[in-house]
Amino acid sequence: LNASIGVSRYPTDATSPKELIKLSNVSSREARSIGRTTFGESDAATFALVNREFSVKNELRNALDKSEMYLVYQPIVDTQSLEVKSLETLLRWNSPILGSVWPQEFIPYLEVTNEINKVSRWMLKQIPISQSFLLSKGLKGTSISLNISPIQFKTDYLVKIVEEALSESSLSPENLVIEITETGLIQNFDFVVRQLTRLRKYGIQIALDDFGSGYSSFNYLSELPLDILKIDKVLIDSILKKDEKKILVDTIIALAHRLDLAVVAEGVERQEQYEYLRTRGCDYIQGFYFYRPDRIENLDF
Ligand code: C2E
Ligand code: CA
Ligand code: CA
Repeated sequence: LNASIGVSRYPTDATSPKELIKLSNVSSREARSIGRTTFGESDAATFALVNREFSVKNELRNALDKSEMYLVYQPIVDTQSLEVKSLETLLRWNSPILGSVWPQEFIPYLEVTNEINKVSRWMLKQIPISQSFLLSKGLKGTSISLNISPIQFKTDYLVKIVEEALSESSLSPENLVIEITETGLIQNFDFVVRQLTRLRKYGIQIALDDFGSGYSSFNYLSELPLDILKIDKVLIDSILKKDEKKILVDTIIALAHRLDLAVVAEGVERQEQYEYLRTRGCDYIQGFYFYRPDRIENLDF
């Protein structure tokens, strides 16, 4: 039997009961993560962490309604022609209190409260507007991709809001890409497959994001209804360091092509990476080497 105890002190650590409990909870979690009978004491670092969590959650409430969120887009280019093939939509939040907060910090909270669905609905509404902007710049047939959290596939709500967007607006499904990650797909696998299949019937394309970042399973590549495979930045970075990683990337590209998937390399920052990927037949490139994400009107096509 192990016990993990979290301690927080009044008034050194916090003064309100709510904060004191929260701090001791975090300390006990830390103690538990050490894995044996131990005490965890809240210190300045824990306090800062909890404090930040409080403020982010607090400020995030109604941030969308208060127009504090906006979208940036990152072009994905054709490796051979260097034409812009599509734009990935990335969420940004500029809080009047906290300043810019990165998606990796605030998106988990949107997921817990289900606000993420509201955000997706809003993003879907922006697509036709962005598409007419692209047309005005002479870019035809450029698709736009949206990141969808695994949690959004737990119910069929996402499919419903996509269907609603398709019927209500001039959104063309052939120019829409939905990016999903493997995390969380394993539970509910059959249900997720059915939903993706439903989206694909409309002509929407499905991309598997962050491939090679964690415990990627090759099995997913044949089991999921996919059109695009995105190789994660971690793997793209590693080709400059180790020849073995080049073999890995070559093999992934070849395998994806055998499965009729288009391949996007993510996070390309250097010319050597681009050159290498081009010679290996990678179809598309996304990364700071070509474009950084920016507001659509600022992108220099
Ligand atoms: P992601 O889907 O893998 O998006 C690509 C991230 O890589 C973006 O970070 C982009 O700015 C960054 N990136 C692209 N090229 C380069 C490069 O050459 N070098 C470097 N260092 N970074 C590069 P960002 O915008 O901070 O987004 C981080 C993550 O947050 C995204 O990773 C995605 O998982 C999530 N995210 C962003 N927007 C949304 C959204 O609307 N919904 C959901 N569910 N997740 C989102
Ligand atoms: Ca993505
Ligand atoms: Ca990615």
